[in-house]
Parts: sequence; structure tokens; C-alpha cells
Amino acid sequence: MKVWIDIDKCTGCGLCIDSCPYNAIGIVNDVAAINERCTMCGACLDSCNQGAILSDAEEAVKVDLSGYKGVWVFAEQREGLLNKGSLELLSCGHELGKVLGEEVCVILLGDNVSGFVNELTTYGAQKIYIAEDEKLKTYQTNAYANTISDIISQYKPSIVLYSATQTGRDLAPRIARRLGAGLTADCTKLAIDEKEGHLLQTRPAFGGNIMATIISPVTRPQMATVRPGVMKLVKHDNIQKAEIIKCKVELDHKNIKTKILTVIKEKHRYSNIQEAKVIISGGRGIKSEKGVKLLETLAETIGGEIAGTRVAVEKGWIPLDRQVGQTGHSVSSDLYIACGISGSIQHRAGIQNSKIIIAINTDPDAPIFSIADYGIVGDLFEIVPALIKALKEER
Ligand SMILES: Cc1cc2nc3c(=O)[nH]c(=O)nc-3n(C[C@H](O)[C@H](O)[C@H](O)COP(=O)(O)OP(=O)(O)OC[C@H]3O[C@@H](n4cnc5c(N)ncnc54)[C@H](O)[C@@H]3O)c2cc1C
Repeated sequence: MKVWIDIDKCTGCGLCIDSCPYNAIGIVNDVAAINERCTMCGACLDSCNQGAILSDAEEAVKVDLSGYKGVWVFAEQREGLLNKGSLELLSCGHELGKVLGEEVCVILLGDNVSGFVNELTTYGAQKIYIAEDEKLKTYQTNAYANTISDIISQYKPSIVLYSATQTGRDLAPRIARRLGAGLTADCTKLAIDEKEGHLLQTRPAFGGNIMATIISPVTRPQMATVRPGVMKLVKHDNIQKAEIIKCKVELDHKNIKTKILTVIKEKHRYSNIQEAKVIISGGRGIKSEKGVKLLETLAETIGGEIAGTRVAVEKGWIPLDRQVGQTGHSVSSDLYIACGISGSIQHRAGIQNSKIIIAINTDPDAPIFSIADYGIVGDLFEIVPALIKALKEER
């Protein structure tokens, strides 16, 4: 959508200035002027009683929404494995499809990827659109964005969902731009507005201080990236095998612009916490790098990953990509051990899908105990070494 001012009609009254949540309107040479902070949210449109603020939303209304059907999920795969976040989205898409009475479909790209069909069916896929080509073997932005845009234009789904992984975050905005569709990034909740049938896309906004629910009422498909770890994985037994639709791939090297010569794996000190089964997490109570070492020893002993609160990240004890919570990652581990973490609402938002939470804290009234399955009141610098010792002896 574009928003602009008709300077012949504008009287410079300034009414529109207060209507803008982004401070993107000012008065320049006695008329309103929109600056680079504009997100084209449209909040100013009704504020002008001279009709001087214009947008092309009217043109977008001409899109025939009834021509778009189906809930699609982009299934991200790499080196023979499907991304867990895509499967979580498929489970969620299954529920959305039920409310809409529409099919849940998967779009799968790669080279020789038909082996994923059974797994995708188990998580609820009714139709799988497969695009196979050697050039799609490893993710490349333009190759994937062009192929998916072409397939979406041909089959016209109503909703397309992407896991908010690095790939999903790179891909979805490009497809949205190519299709002129709306996109809500980093959602934590999805639902259907049962009256209008629109996708309700909820995500933290303004630094996590509010939860905003966003709709794309005039364009299709409605697209969202969703944080991995926030949707529950649901398997379906005795489900009918998904229908396969092989899609034609027309890729020209000229349009791909990049060529993968070789793939060099980065040596990580840590691996992905969103996929981790066991997480040892530290907060302000770990006090220093010494506390991190202690958590690392426990993690090595039981085969876990370390993570932390925003405080632990800001102190420089835990890397930023290990932050758990509302403005960090949502995790869904089998075991989450919270060491010296108070359990603020922002932190708890990221751990609510953990199966078992163990909290170690000196303060018996710490909020973390309200969601912990097991609580240990005491000094982590005594308890964690005792735990490590006991675990080693047990072995
Ligand atoms: C918009 C917004 C977004 C935010 N996003 C996030 C987010 O994504 N993730 C996040 O974590 N926070 C986030 N926060 C910050 C959040 O509000 C809290 O400040 C933060 O989670 C607190 O971290 P903490 O538990 O490490 O520290 P504290 O709240 O200070 O808790 C430290 C705990 O350690 C215990 N302790 C101290 N010494 C010991 C010891 N020796 N042994 C055992 N226990 C001990 C104390 O009793 C205390 O309970 C956000 C805040 C805002 C406003």
C-alpha cells in the first residue's frame, strides 16, 4: 500500500500528526508531509476531514478474495531433515484449515525431496506441492522466492505460513513484495476471524510491550512468519496420504544471480536452542562468567544446551542468539533447568512449551516457581555442583 498527501487539499491543520503511531507526519511548508518513518499502516487515513490523505488501498480492494483458497505451509528442509518449526506450523495450519473448511497444503522445494511426503502427511498435510530441481537443492534467495511466487500465483492459496528461521525471514518478505501481498513477521499466535474469515496474526510490538493482532483484509495471500517453538507439534494417525502435485520449475541463472560454489559449515560453540531437548538456562543469579562455566559443565554432563535471560545476555555472559523469552527465542525442550532466574513474564513467555521445568533459586517467592514442575530453593553454586556430582556417580 502507498500513502500520500494531496497538497492542494491539505490545509496544514495538523490533525493527522497525532493519528500516526510512528511519528511519521510533520508540517513542511504549511502542508502535511510524510517522512521515512511511515510504515504505511493507514492509521492516518481517516484523520483528515479534507480528504487530503490518499492511499492505493481502494485499488487493492479489487482483488477477488473468493478466488483464494487453502492454508499453505512452506516446508523448510536441509540436508535430509525437515525443519521442526515447519512441522509445528503444519500442525497449526491443520487447525486453521478446519475452521475455514479449507485444505492444508505444503509447498516443498529441493532436489529429490519426495522422501518427506510421509512425515508431512503425519503432521496434517493434505496436498503437497513439490518443486524439484538441482538448482533448488540448497536454499538460494532468488531461486526459492521466484519459484514459490510462481506457484502461489498459479494455485492462489488464501494463507501462506513460513517458520521465522533465517531462511523464512529472508524468503517471506521477498515473496510478499513479488505478489503485492501483506506479511506479518514473527507471529506468536494465529487464529481465524470466524466472521470475516481473515487470518488473525498476533505478534509482540513496540519492543514487546503490547501484543498486536494484524489482518490483511484486502490482499491475498495472507502471509506470516511464525516463531519456531510457539506452536505445538501434533501428529495425526490413520490419516489419508497427501495428494502430490509436481510443479514445473522454470529457473534461469540470470534471475538467480548467485551460485553456490561450496558450503562451509560454521563451527559453533553452541547449536540451535530451539531444537534442543535439554536446556540449562542462567539468569542474573549466575553472577559472572564463572557461573556460565558451571552451567556448561552441567550441560555437558547431561547433554544439553545453555541459554539465558535477557539480563544474562546484556551482561555478556550468554550470546544473544541464546536469549529465551518474549524478545528472544521460544523453546520447547523436554527439560528446562532455570538457574538463578526470577521468572519474569517476558521470560516465562519463551518457556511455556517446555515439558519439564526445574527451577533453582535462593528466593522461595520467585515467580519461576509458579510454573516449575520441580523447585529447589537454594544457592545454585552449591546445588549445580552437587547435581553434576550425583549425575556423574549415577553413570
Ligand atoms: C519489553 C521487554 C521484553 C523483554 N524480553 C525479555 C526476554 O525475551 N527474555 C528475558 O529473559 N527477559 C526479558 N525481559 C526482561 C525481564 O523483564 C526481566 O528483567 C528478566 O527476565 C530478568 O532476568 P533474570 O531472571 O536473569 O534476573 P532477575 O529478575 O534479577 O532474577 C535473578 C534471580 O536470581 C536469583 N538468585 C540470585 N543469586 C542466586 C544464587 N546464588 N542461586 C540461585 N538463585 C539466585 C534471585 O533470587 C532472582 O530471583 C524483557 C523486558 C521487557 C520490558
